[in-house]
Amino acid sequence: MNEISEGENTIILYFRKSKQVCIWTVKLALTCCLPLALQQKMLKVEHIGIAVQSLAESLPLFEKLLNTPCYKIEEVESEQVRTAFFATGVNKIELLESTSPEGVIARYLAKRGEGIHHIAFEVQDIESEMKRLAGEGFELLQEKPKRGADNKLVCFLHPKGTKNVLVELCQEVEVNK
Ligand code: ZN
Repeated sequence: MNEISEGENTIILYFRKSKQVCIWTVKLALTCCLPLALQQKMLKVEHIGIAVQSLAESLPLFEKLLNTPCYKIEEVESEQVRTAFFATGVNKIELLESTSPEGVIARYLAKRGEGIHHIAFEVQDIESEMKRLAGEGFELLQEKPKRGADNKLVCFLHPKGTKNVLVELCQEVEVNK
């Protein structure tokens, strides 16, 4: 009863071959895609920052606009700013209000009025991304990443090198660190 018919033999050979093809496909995918995935530095637009005169006035407006409540209000003392965050799908909106007439946001508002202040990109490794961008000739506004709002390490690029768009790099800080 150990004899295997020609038909069965063909089927066994077919499965052996297709198993081999599967292994090759997985190996190929790993060799090609893994380095690509590791090279992916800018992951997504993490948030868009909007400078406002008053959070008290702007919060209800954005809650109505986005149809979602603000999930966090946080003051960043070093920046003299109070921030409010809204989740919109995979991205966020950050409202920024100055806590001092001398703060960066107060100065921005005096010069340009309310509106889009910066675009923040989430990066995998902020230090290596800062190094890469400095190497490409972009001017960084910080030498080292600093602690920003909403659990992030951040660094800004000078807008004069980015068509007047203030770009923020941010990397999620693991909680309990
Ligand atoms: Zn921001």
